[in-house]
Amino acid sequence: MMKTVDEHLADILASTQELPPLDLALLDAGNGVLAEPVTAPVDLPPFDNSAMDGYAVLAADVAGASDTSPVTLSVVGDIAAGDSDAHGIRAGLCARIMTGAPVPAGADAIVPVEWTDGGTAKVVIRRSATAGHYVRRSGEDVTAGQTVLDAGTRLGAAQIGMLAAIGRARVLVRPRPRVVVLSTGSELVEPGRPVGPGQIWDSNSFALTAAATEAGAIGFRHGMVGDDPGQVLATIEEQLGSADLIITSGGVSMGARDVVKEVLSGLGTMRFDKIAMRPGKPQGFGLLDGRTPVFTLPGNPVSAYVSFQVFVRPALRALQGLPPEPAPTVVARLTAPATSPAGLRHYLRGVLEYRDGEYQVTLAEGQGSHQVFSLASSNCLIVVAEDVTELAAGDPVSVMRLP
Ligand code: AMP
Ligand code: MG
Repeated sequence: MMKTVDEHLADILASTQELPPLDLALLDAGNGVLAEPVTAPVDLPPFDNSAMDGYAVLAADVAGASDTSPVTLSVVGDIAAGDSDAHGIRAGLCARIMTGAPVPAGADAIVPVEWTDGGTAKVVIRRSATAGHYVRRSGEDVTAGQTVLDAGTRLGAAQIGMLAAIGRARVLVRPRPRVVVLSTGSELVEPGRPVGPGQIWDSNSFALTAAATEAGAIGFRHGMVGDDPGQVLATIEEQLGSADLIITSGGVSMGARDVVKEVLSGLGTMRFDKIAMRPGKPQGFGLLDGRTPVFTLPGNPVSAYVSFQVFVRPALRALQGLPPEPAPTVVARLTAPATSPAGLRHYLRGVLEYRDGEYQVTLAEGQGSHQVFSLASSNCLIVVAEDVTELAAGDPVSVMRLP
């Protein structure tokens, strides 16, 4: 009896626990997921400051300034960014001020230097400014006590900057999961080396490591091992110590040399199932060491890749405490008819385009699970439900965008 995609994914997610949070320095926290809400201890800006290089004035003094009747004010001094002893001003006076410098007591507007003659003892001002002009008010960005980042936020560059701006040096995050990828197969050769008869270059470990990184994890390509039970088991056991999740490819179908299935069966909670899907029918999953999710994906490159998107990606999100949502999915109009086997969820490779005000999707040529060119030329997977066998041109279909 085959298991459905949904059942298999539900089992995976039921046994995938969030990684424990770590207290990390900001730059080590990048791409991690915040495990605490962060509130601002201060207002931002922390003090009223100038948005321009210019002159801090009383708006009332320059209310009538124009090209034909300029206003002349005495300059009492210079205020640079970082100055703490800002001079106060009163009617008839102004201070030269730089961007980011504190607005002096008494001033309520900034006249940009471009509207003046740039004078240092006296300045001639040719345009009026109203109160508040080019003043960045204390607290107008963030007020003290405000939550600036919620728990569950992925920390990109802007969020890291936000944390630094409120003075945080460290934060509690669920780090990017460390994903170890291992290919199995005695036919495999490292790219860059010559292949002999019957041999092929290992592509899965590269594609899966890159996919892990694309999904926000840290991918480590362990490389490949031959179809040797002892070597396969030893490699997986050795990696358990350093991995948050392990992915293998190959060796899980019905062949005589399906070593991954052979050596992992009965270990931890490992189970090997046939899933009602195409491509990707033979799948293995379980926890080893009581905590590390191990995905044993089929060897055909398209099967391995699709399996990653369907099963591993949501699990990586769950490890980071994020909702295990699938890749972004849109509804698109099929440009040509398609058929699909009854009882299997079919993931067809396709090209999604936005044309004439709607999404349209065209089947890629070459839907075999070994056809990497077709996969590499696609930007989406067309998801055909188990009970659908015929699709006509123009039918709406659900399309999973690929990263
Ligand atoms: P298996 O699942 O080990 O029976 O492999 C199924 C098919 O996928 C075979 O044609 C393998 O040669 C191919 N294959 C397995 N592993 C890889 C890999 N790492 N890179 C490219 N092709 C692979
Ligand atoms: Mg194999």
